[in-house]
Amino acid sequence: MVIVMKPGVGQEAIQALVERLEREYEVTVGVTNGIGCSILGLVGDTAQIDMDKLSMNATVERVMRVQEPYKKANRKFHPEDSVVEVGGVPIGGGYFGVIAGPCSVESEEQIIGVAQGVKAAGASLLRGGAFKPRTSPYAFQGMGVPGLELLGKARRATGLPIVTELMSPKYCELFEREADLVQIGARNMQNFDLLKEVGKMSKPILLKRGLANSYEEWVMSAEYIMASGNEKVILCERGIRTFESYTRNTLDLSAIPAIRKMSHLPIIVDPSHAAGMHWMVEPLAMAAAAVGADGVMVEVHNDPPHAKCDGQQALTPESFQRLMSKLALLVELVGKRLV
Ligand code: PEP
Ligand code: MN
Repeated sequence: MVIVMKPGVGQEAIQALVERLEREYEVTVGVTNGIGCSILGLVGDTAQIDMDKLSMNATVERVMRVQEPYKKANRKFHPEDSVVEVGGVPIGGGYFGVIAGPCSVESEEQIIGVAQGVKAAGASLLRGGAFKPRTSPYAFQGMGVPGLELLGKARRATGLPIVTELMSPKYCELFEREADLVQIGARNMQNFDLLKEVGKMSKPILLKRGLANSYEEWVMSAEYIMASGNEKVILCERGIRTFESYTRNTLDLSAIPAIRKMSHLPIIVDPSHAAGMHWMVEPLAMAAAAVGADGVMVEVHNDPPHAKCDGQQALTPESFQRLMSKLALLVELVGKRLV
């Protein structure tokens, strides 16, 4: 961190600030005196320093970070790709995972039927929402706890680990028992209390990118989970809000190489919520694999026209099977292993 002092600030005031910073934050401060102004260079753990508060100091002109504010998620301190295991299935570091299943669990027949279909096509994990974050309070909110129980049945029927969204800290214990990968949805990416709570869980966390959040904000949310003790985090790009209204969201494929540079955490892509249209899911999933993603998450429904949620973007088990055959070739071509 670099602090530029206001022109004309005397040595006594500079010394007082240096001593305060060294005392309060355990950093080492080097002073460079230029013509008319001085610059302080801070070395050490500056992540805890509040830049805005420091800028309010009457003697300070400007404060700049030279290091990222995230540590545990930072590739600089962990150069190797992290591999996160989900119910025995590795994701990241050369292992490409495919998560497939309906937007929401609707009935035993539906979830077991879809689970068997995606398993036969080669999916690695089963998704299905029991608690749904819906824009309208009048829309289907998910089956809740019984939905979670049905996911357990689908796991027992197929052996596929379960990915499902947690919206409230009050269900952490239940999800600790019932889920294999706990999803934090786009709308909760910056629900910091929830992030701290899932940080205490032992299950891996799938952290979706917020609808209008930067890469750094997203990685900082991963940092919240990791700082609370859970380092098993997988990031998921699911499209962001832009001026384009043709698609539901705009898939930001730049996120994959960017996050790869910033962080060692695995990153997957959800082309279904990005596109919002079933026919666009396959090309976007292929693009995700080509640009280096560690996996994809796609919505699959046995009867899309009658789905209770997101039917327009769901693949049928047959179209999912076609996607899997193409993905398998591409994943091999980019030197990864489909798990
Ligand atoms: C979902 O995966 O079902 C979902 C609601 O996604 P998002 O949080 O990305 O909108
Ligand atoms: Mn959905």
